[in-house]
Amino acid sequence: MIGVVSIMRYKYCPKCGGTLSLNENRDISKPVCTSCGFIFYQNPSVGVMGILIRDGKVLLGKRRQGSFKGQWCFPGGYVEWDEDVYEAARREFVEETGLNITITTIYTLLSDYGCIYDQFRSIHNLEQQNVIIWFLVKEIDGKLVAGDDIEEVEFFSFNEVPVLAFPTHDIVLKKLKDEHLIL
Ligand SMILES: [Zn+2]
Repeated sequence: MIGVVSIMRYKYCPKCGGTLSLNENRDISKPVCTSCGFIFYQNPSVGVMGILIRDGKVLLGKRRQGSFKGQWCFPGGYVEWDEDVYEAARREFVEETGLNITITTIYTLLSDYGCIYDQFRSIHNLEQQNVIIWFLVKEIDGKLVAGDDIEEVEFFSFNEVPVLAFPTHDIVLKKLKDEHLIL
């Protein structure tokens, strides 16, 4: 289902500057340029998160800036244009934690705006919708040190985890606990 906030996020065509309008013959999330006919596909962004568990504790990072400053999250970020998702996961992980990792497996996939998370919709920024690929990872080498937009990194058991920035991170944390992957 398309939410109200996802309609007409943009007004002008990125190709010619013409006015975008909704073509009623098409899906409502695909505005069409009234000048050149360009279809503006509005798709969620793809993100990657790494789950590193050491002695039953999971590695989290404290956010340095932005609206979630001071809250914690799993290490990860957005896949860049032309970047492989596995490479993106490794890059984000080393940027934020200093650790080089290898991907063990895909743990889960979540859309952070999805209807099954309706209870969270009020606190999510629906203007920025993401599909997140969650990887279980193993550390290879490196030195644990916070970097990029993370100012602190630390391993936590379930009961020690501080306030997390994003509801989907809470979901994954609980899944890890329920499946006895963390203490
Ligand atoms: Zn145009």
